[in-house]
Amino acid sequence: LPTLAVVGRPNVGKSTLVNRIIGRRLAVVEDTPGVTRDRVSYPAEWAGTDFMLMDTGGWEAKVQGLDLSVAQQAEVAIDMADAILFVVDATVGATASDEKVVRLLRKSGKPVVLAANKVDGPQGELEAASLWNLGLGEPYPVSALHGRGTGDLLDAAVAALPTEMEQVAVDPEAPRRIALVGRPNVGKSSLLNQLAGERRVVVDETAGTTRDPVDERVEIGGRAWTLVDTAGIRRRVHMTKGADFYASLRTGAAIERAEVALVLLDASVPLTDQDTRVISQVVEAGRAMVLVFNKWDLVGEDERFLLERSIEQDLVQLPWALRINLSARTGWHTNRLVPAIDLALGSWDQRISTGRLNSFLGELVAEHPHPVRSGKQPKILFATQASTRPPRFVIFTSGFLDPTYRRFIERRLREAFGFEGSPLQISVRVRE
Ligand code: GDP
Repeated sequence: LPTLAVVGRPNVGKSTLVNRIIGRRLAVVEDTPGVTRDRVSYPAEWAGTDFMLMDTGGWEAKVQGLDLSVAQQAEVAIDMADAILFVVDATVGATASDEKVVRLLRKSGKPVVLAANKVDGPQGELEAASLWNLGLGEPYPVSALHGRGTGDLLDAAVAALPTEMEQVAVDPEAPRRIALVGRPNVGKSSLLNQLAGERRVVVDETAGTTRDPVDERVEIGGRAWTLVDTAGIRRRVHMTKGADFYASLRTGAAIERAEVALVLLDASVPLTDQDTRVISQVVEAGRAMVLVFNKWDLVGEDERFLLERSIEQDLVQLPWALRINLSARTGWHTNRLVPAIDLALGSWDQRISTGRLNSFLGELVAEHPHPVRSGKQPKILFATQASTRPPRFVIFTSGFLDPTYRRFIERRLREAFGFEGSPLQISVRVRE
């Protein structure tokens, strides 16, 4: 799980905030500087995201003996965390030791969410706003004690956590693995029947056990593929309570076992939240993806143009998505599936040589330098593609990159090298 570290000077309210977030009173928090409990990480959850919450509050007592400064403690925490919740006491404002931590945070390049704590009224709002000049983005005014504002703060913190994209292990000898996912009734089993037809072989991965066979070896477009978890599609489970939850667990498991996910959507009705969630599940899992808009036989000739435009609107946040229109019922355009899957997997497998990558970035930066922020301009020193499946890039810089600039790099990288149908990840490492 990703780790969110709560960092800040003694007595700014770190432990109160941690207790507030995990919803328990695990320890006595006294209103005396330096009096807190042992350092621990707690499992926490917000808005469907699980993470570990690391409380550095308890370090104070311990590290006093070791004579570690607040900045040194923060350095350790920053090192260990994926994102940082930096707490400042709004009633005091930013102190010299806060400024030191800010420098470390900027240097780390890790995502930071700024909490302006002890904001209990309008005066506090003003004090909180003055923390904009720390250069860490928007200060979230909160009262850890009363709970005020912590929802917005947690929304921001959870959004800042990286979605984990680990390299997917692929057997180069085996057929490529496809998951067919989508909310109920979009036409998964219909498409499965179209694709698999009669030439279907059930692959029992756990021969000799009583477990259900879950995968099928199928021939599509004259080639062998493995469709994962087709048992989940064929077996109709009717549930009322918690159906959504179990469906999304099952979908998640299928995606995990696949290299590419075909996300089925019903073109004849508007996208639903459940559709969007399935798409996010694939993106966050770092799998290649093809969006399959089914049931086009229900779309009248005169509606097509408008429908196309509205689908483009829906997917504006996902410009790299590959999409095809087809009808599982009539078989129309189902021959477009394999080329789309090949393209998505090709992107997912693609490796850009370090030489090409750096000459591309060199030209990009020369043409569009990073904006100067408070007199500083981070330099891009070097980049490399750390892995494929999905493609992950590491960029070494001399300072924290603006999130907008990072997105700009991703956009240009995609324009230059394709990567259609594959998510990709860009990590930034700040070097001295
Ligand atoms: P699943 O729950 O995703 O497996 O969806 P099904 O394959 O069971 O399909 C749900 C309903 O949509 C069924 O009544 C299908 O006949 C219908 N359906 C599936 N694909 C199409 C299609 O391309 N066109 C039309 N008109 N109906 C379809």
